[in-house]
Amino acid sequence: MVRAAAACELNIAGVTAFSTVDWPDMMTATVFLQGCPWNCFYCHNPALIDPRAEGATTWAEVMDLLCDRLGLLDGVVFSGGEPTLQRALVPAMDLVHRLGFKVGLHTAGAYPGLLAQALPHVDWVGLDIKALPQDYGFVAGRPHSGENAWRSLELVLGNQVLRAATDRPLDLEVRTTVHPAAIDDEGLHDLGCRLADAGVDCWAVQRFRDTGARSPLPRVEAGDPARLRLDRLPTDRFASLVVR
Ligand code: SF4
Repeated sequence: MVRAAAACELNIAGVTAFSTVDWPDMMTATVFLQGCPWNCFYCHNPALIDPRAEGATTWAEVMDLLCDRLGLLDGVVFSGGEPTLQRALVPAMDLVHRLGFKVGLHTAGAYPGLLAQALPHVDWVGLDIKALPQDYGFVAGRPHSGENAWRSLELVLGNQVLRAATDRPLDLEVRTTVHPAAIDDEGLHDLGCRLADAGVDCWAVQRFRDTGARSPLPRVEAGDPARLRLDRLPTDRFASLVVR
């Protein structure tokens, strides 16, 4: 029998005590968890990829910080890395919820099965969909990454439908980082149409920024992100489409 993990076992790379950018329209603390199975060439935080790297803070310190901010924050976002990599994620989410905070999750959907276990404990998901399934290998550098990400999208959308009329609905923002080496305007239009066809209402297109990224970027000639004109987005297919 597999021993249940405890929140104190989380490997935490860092925490932001106050953020207005990690969950739209919410004031949050954001907890960055160590480790990711993928190796996206444009990763904005490659130091968080190695799951064996030692964390920089403890769960006890995070809880102290949250207790100091009761009534001041709306929620807590678990980010990464890939948060679903860690079995202690769900117990940590439950503790956060019991303190009275809403729970947000940033995920790239690398582990659909683990994401399915986490979803009932989450109020909002920021899900990265980086490309069409067949183009994932180039972006994420790992086989089966596209299948897993798009399976995760199906799971989140299904969970959103199931919870729509409950007292704990699930909100979703699908996010796509655009880099000209990975996608062009036409490809981005096609991706948007596929997301809308799948049932996504809220899409955020995020221009690649080199802050935190490896320099030079591995495997690709770094193109100029400004080259993307982003003027062919299927805006009318979404209730909300933001470009950041
Ligand atoms: S999924 Fe996110 S954290 Fe993991 S390598 Fe890609 S950009 Fe970095």
